[in-house]
Amino acid sequence: PKGYVATNEPVYDFKRNSPEAAQVHATLKDFLGRKNDTNDALFEVPIVIGDKEIRTENVQYQPIPFDHQTKIARFYHADKAILAQAIENSLQNRADWENSSFDYRASIMLKAADRITKEGRAEILASTMLGQAKTVYQAEIDAACELADFLRFNVQYLYEHLKYKPLNGDENTINNMYLRGMEGFVAAIAPFNFTAISGHLATAPALMGNVVLWKPSDTAVFSSYLVYKILRECGLPAGVINFVPSAGPDFGETITSSANLAGVNFTGSVPTFRWLWKKVGENLESYRTFPRLAGECGGKNFHLVHESSDIESAAVATVRSAFEFSGQKCSACSRLYVPESKWPQMKEKMVALLKDLQIDSPLKFETFTSAVIDERSFDKISNYIEYGKNNNKLITGGYYNKSTGYYVYPTIFETKDPKDRLMREEIFGPVLTVFKYKDSEFDQVVDLVDTTTPYALTGSIFAKDETVMKNTKLRLRHACGNLYLNDKSTGSVVNQQPFGGARLSGTNDKPGSPGYLLKWTSPLSVKESL
Ligand code: GLU
Repeated sequence: PKGYVATNEPVYDFKRNSPEAAQVHATLKDFLGRKNDTNDALFEVPIVIGDKEIRTENVQYQPIPFDHQTKIARFYHADKAILAQAIENSLQNRADWENSSFDYRASIMLKAADRITKEGRAEILASTMLGQAKTVYQAEIDAACELADFLRFNVQYLYEHLKYKPLNGDENTINNMYLRGMEGFVAAIAPFNFTAISGHLATAPALMGNVVLWKPSDTAVFSSYLVYKILRECGLPAGVINFVPSAGPDFGETITSSANLAGVNFTGSVPTFRWLWKKVGENLESYRTFPRLAGECGGKNFHLVHESSDIESAAVATVRSAFEFSGQKCSACSRLYVPESKWPQMKEKMVALLKDLQIDSPLKFETFTSAVIDERSFDKISNYIEYGKNNNKLITGGYYNKSTGYYVYPTIFETKDPKDRLMREEIFGPVLTVFKYKDSEFDQVVDLVDTTTPYALTGSIFAKDETVMKNTKLRLRHACGNLYLNDKSTGSVVNQQPFGGARLSGTNDKPGSPGYLLKWTSPLSVKESL
């Protein structure tokens, strides 16, 4: 598909009683109907290496976060020996895949994108709704639209790169540059919060001719497996991507101690990414090449409100950014800076909005957002809430309940200390902390925004005053990788706002942009004398 031009998949709004909504409902019903006395989970997910499905004795379950007694999937952890087999198998398939044509690889990715947005859409949405507690709208943006966008735009970017032709210099010389895959394998390590990110971490290196070991998140195995199955059904040869759920340390140790590690494509926490990086450092002498490391690692994202801003719209944007998907977007706003004179108005608006928003099962149309992903997250977030109650002022929320699902209600604290833990540490849940500053001290607050946390993922400035906006965006240009002006800090769209952060938020390789693909190729330059 030379010259292929991608467009963003339109986000469907699932109005009640539409055929599309009915289809999603039927699929959810079908999935949940599998619950019976003989099944301990709705689905079973194997490890897949080459064309073999593997089941081990290390049985794991993925619970439904909003109904944790029901398990959406039973799956198995691959141990180190099985992971070593997976590497071996990938390497056997490497040459054929790398030597296959770009058109062939691109056509598989495009076919998968079409499948995801057409016949496969309802299943992908249902798996993300049940498995990751997303409402249909949240699942649509992620698992259908963003995933299809990643697959399609990467194909467009690939052909843009292929257009590059080095100069010949003189009439006796022909110069060329070929985009090769890398010798070795790439390890893709996925988070739970986006089905799209999980799929993208594995498919982008594959498109460029690499073989991949894909470790899905334990708390989102099922949706990733459906994506994997679609890729295979759309022609991805066995063994190009091996699907290997496994314990993090086993996976990390096995890949970093293989001489053939060519790259790590990671989204997750800073400590895990640092650990992987150290492991790579420890093994550096044993590698055939220098492994490429790409990581997206969270944030502590700000909304900075200036007195000249439209407070009502800043309030709406903040509620959406902080609480949609229960604050479990890397990009979610978790620290808010508001001028003293505007805080009463902003507070009133945010509290009123939250009062009307339903926190409930994601299967209900009215639900704004649902449970957090698992018990570990629930416990971590509720500990922060208790800390907040003891050390800061609770504005709204502050309650949580895990009796049937891992529900944490949208919570806002006000702090007097702009360097309080709640202003510095990533909580990854629906907790927002506000620092109210003196209107005359905006200048100092800009410094605080820049220096309070080690992260730099996303941030928003709200101001109508053009000079203030111009100066502030310049001063905060290193405080994030995605900057929003008079808009919420979440909701990046592929090829519209390429996404990624600097500082400890990651290597900022910007998935969803052309440059990202170059991380996963090892080009060969050829000079031919005639
Ligand atoms: N790209 C998403 C957004 O801007 C966030 C991705 C993430 O949570 O990692 O909302």
